[in-house]
Amino acid sequence: MVKCRRCLVEEASVWIPYAKLHLCKKCFSEFTIKRVRETVEKYRMFGSTDKVAVAVSGGKDSAVLLYTLKKAFPDVRFTAFHVNLGIEKYSEDCLKKAEALTKMLNLELFIYDLKREKGFTIDDFKHTRFKRRICSVCGTIKRQVFNEVSEKIGVNVLATGHNLDDMVEIMFSNFLAGDFEQLSRLKPVIPPFHPKLVKKVKPLFRIPENETALYAFFNNIPVREEECPHVKGSRLIERKRLLELFSKENPNFKYQLLSVFLKKLIPILEEREKEKAFTVCEVCGFPSSTNICGACRRIMELKSVLGKV
Ligand SMILES: [Zn+2]
Ligand SMILES: [Zn+2]
Repeated sequence: MVKCRRCLVEEASVWIPYAKLHLCKKCFSEFTIKRVRETVEKYRMFGSTDKVAVAVSGGKDSAVLLYTLKKAFPDVRFTAFHVNLGIEKYSEDCLKKAEALTKMLNLELFIYDLKREKGFTIDDFKHTRFKRRICSVCGTIKRQVFNEVSEKIGVNVLATGHNLDDMVEIMFSNFLAGDFEQLSRLKPVIPPFHPKLVKKVKPLFRIPENETALYAFFNNIPVREEECPHVKGSRLIERKRLLELFSKENPNFKYQLLSVFLKKLIPILEEREKEKAFTVCEVCGFPSSTNICGACRRIMELKSVLGKV
């Protein structure tokens, strides 16, 4: 039996390779909370005077995000919100788990229902040319909704649950696609560059996915059991598998990639952003690089197709 390196009493349940630590369940939970607190402080994500919204999807990462933030910063007021995307079966499960989580933490949950607010669901995109790219449309729509919700509930910071694996996967995909605009959205802290926007932060960006999963499991955090039907067949899974292959060869691979991103690429992206001109979308009023933003364009396309269906 391997003993926990922290308390030296309990049996170790987790091995943390990058910290070379064997930890018991309790010490692992404390270790995670400490890392979240250090990340928020080091990157100046928010302070005690900020109003912070946490996007809770029903999945493990955002659940762990809300749970650890509440423990790491008992004095900060967090507002949890959930977007009901209207994906058959999946979204019902997500909503239930988001409600159970906020009840557990004694927090209110602000629910934004896509169908009720905008008259369509993510499933409706099945009828458009985006059929096989629903994940990317969903991302664009969610980004717009997150901006709207942040404005509506009056917060100045928005926290999302991207973990280390998400960061590396999105980085990898965007490198392959040469999409620098998406890459710049991957920064751990995105300052608001327009009065209609809030600061966006990713407090879990240094925590690997297997650790958020273990944290959720050890702490009995309610998380969805359904898998999103649109993820199946998306290129995301294939890329995930490739990255796992690299990581098997080199356990530090993900951290190395993240470090290059933070130290070398972000400064270049930031220079580039300074020069970038943006206007305001004629439809939704949020900043956009074109007269009508990507989300509004996709919604217009959907509505014209739905009119014909
Ligand atoms: Zn211990
Ligand atoms: Zn727009």
